[in-house]
Amino acid sequence: MREHALVLEGLGARVSRVRRPADLGEIDGLVLPGGESSVIDKLSRAFGLQLPIREQIAKGLPVLGTCAGLILLADRMRDGIPGQESFGGLDVTVRRNAFGRQAESFEGELDVVSLGPPSIRAAFIRGPVVDEVGPRAHVLAALPDGRVVGVEQDALMGLSFHPEITGETRFHERFLARAAAA
Ligand code: GLN
Repeated sequence: MREHALVLEGLGARVSRVRRPADLGEIDGLVLPGGESSVIDKLSRAFGLQLPIREQIAKGLPVLGTCAGLILLADRMRDGIPGQESFGGLDVTVRRNAFGRQAESFEGELDVVSLGPPSIRAAFIRGPVVDEVGPRAHVLAALPDGRVVGVEQDALMGLSFHPEITGETRFHERFLARAAAA
């Protein structure tokens, strides 16, 4: 979260933390960071945030989800822990921890058509892969072998990787432009 806050503040945004439902009224956009999606899911339910976040997503709140955050934005999930839920919003099926042991964490170059050149350097840390992209979502980024690692749908953006730790700011700029327009 800290890394996201630094990137966003560097781009001129004011960053605050959402801890309770009322905090959602104060924001123009929401970042769902990396971490452990099953824990974030449990905590969000324990703090009464799941339904309010779902409502805001349905109303069009811009959201940037990275890694665990992408899992939380997915309508469908594979290899979740028993009972794991998501906020949903992205018409995709994600698979948790999809890169297997050997390639759990790596950095790679990605071409992102809508961002244009140069290609981006992305850090993957036990990230998910997008197995299926439904008709309402579209692909934002894929690995050279075709595996989808970034998706968008309206104001929602979900990434398998962590742009916030490789000095890549274009995804955050795209998110902030949406938050400013919302
Ligand atoms: N493997 C984690 C999960 O399932 C995601 C890892 C990350 O966010 N870097 O939530």
